[in-house]
Amino acid sequence: MFASVRSTTLLGVVGRAVDVEVHVGVGLPGFTIVGQPDEVCRESRDRVRAAFLSRGFAWPNRRITVNLAPSGERKGGAGLDLAIAVAVLVADEQLSPESAERFAFVAELGLDGSLRGVVGAAPLVAAVRDRTVVVASDNVAAARAAGAARVVAASDLAHVVACLRGQDEWSTPESTVTTVDEAAIPDLADVRGQPVARLALEVAAAGAHHMLLVGPPGAGKSMLARRLPGVLPPLTDDQALSCTMVHSAAHVSMPATGRVTRPPFRSPHHSISLVGLIGGGTSAMRPGEISLASEGVLFLDELGEFAPSVLDALRQPIEEGCVHVSRARTTLTFPARFLLVAAANPCPCGAGAPGVCVCDDAARAKYVRRFSGPLLDRFDLRVSVGLPRVDDLVAGEKGESSADVAARVVRAREIAVARNGEVNSKIAVDDLDDVAPLAPAARALLRRELELGRLSGRGLHRVRRVARTIADLDGAARVVGEQHVATALQLRTGLSSLMGGAR
Ligand SMILES: [Zn+2]
Repeated sequence: MFASVRSTTLLGVVGRAVDVEVHVGVGLPGFTIVGQPDEVCRESRDRVRAAFLSRGFAWPNRRITVNLAPSGERKGGAGLDLAIAVAVLVADEQLSPESAERFAFVAELGLDGSLRGVVGAAPLVAAVRDRTVVVASDNVAAARAAGAARVVAASDLAHVVACLRGQDEWSTPESTVTTVDEAAIPDLADVRGQPVARLALEVAAAGAHHMLLVGPPGAGKSMLARRLPGVLPPLTDDQALSCTMVHSAAHVSMPATGRVTRPPFRSPHHSISLVGLIGGGTSAMRPGEISLASEGVLFLDELGEFAPSVLDALRQPIEEGCVHVSRARTTLTFPARFLLVAAANPCPCGAGAPGVCVCDDAARAKYVRRFSGPLLDRFDLRVSVGLPRVDDLVAGEKGESSADVAARVVRAREIAVARNGEVNSKIAVDDLDDVAPLAPAARALLRRELELGRLSGRGLHRVRRVARTIADLDGAARVVGEQHVATALQLRTGLSSLMGGAR
């Protein structure tokens, strides 16, 4: 007898529909799975058989062949367990073929027959969302976030079979209330003083400019970076769905709603591996930190401590907004549209300032070399962050709130997108004169900086893009003025003491 039951498998961050075909026939008793199952998927045989026996179903003592179609792609994980079990029951005529027709099954089976949630439920279910999807109860929120037509849950295999026979009711757990956990993002109001760094944060958010914060330990670089998601424009529905798929596939903790609704903030430690940052892996191809940070912020604290090979790998994703991960014959593409924020000490001892710094010239030179290089070129903003003033700490007023700053950011982005069709950090060099024309005094100021060797040719374009954003925040939609350029130059002094004064 033959049966075909719908399920789905995960390929990176995308689910693919799979037809689980089962043939039960004459021959020596046996159980074979074909169609490129991975190791976990192959072990499904043992879980399904144990679940049958512990829930009182007869195990067909015949030759059982399972084919996972289409056979061209590798199938991973335990999410096909339930579909295999149902298909065996249909092929063995313990269930009618019609009963399972309109369903898709996405759950792992425990040895006792219980249904268990799977990693990547959101993208998995998205691949079969035109069906009624049967999942374990802990995957219900993710399945709903994926937009499935109907999501039902069951406790164990016997419950599933009873429902398919019409002898029992599916459990349809209440949708969790969609409240957004906004308290999780700290507020800019907690940052006292630091006017330059606060401005830099606003400019970074408005123009999507990558930002390097340079300052001694205790200056609050990390405190500032953590507040950036709170001033970024809210996610569009498409962005939120894309974030949800990536987070679900990577198996990181999700909001109770099963849906990511705010720009993510990821802060990997400097000991992170290449695979951890970029994505990939030997068993399952999982998205890395740069994909989890997509549509949000990737924060690299202590930039100089990251392995050069790891930092090098960031260049392609920064250019393309996505990352290509390969293993054997498969190449997958993950989203990587993150805003990069990095923090670094001004010198090896951290003090930076003349008179306080105890580093010798050799140590400083070595430190500069770690920072020079192509990645450094990607930062439009290189902001010097000093220690907060004592007065600001003890008597300073509360800073402006994230909500107020975010309102200006949204307005400035709207101006930029209406004019350029994209955020300011993406303006092509050839378009700069068109979309960011300079007032005569602004042009003169840039010329002077170039002549004095305080600004490089590459730095020039970056300063002009940042000045465009500052002008947008200022409501000056056309010409970029001298003051806008002067401010942009000020937001690029972070490394100049180390790099011979050049920005
Ligand atoms: Zn030093």
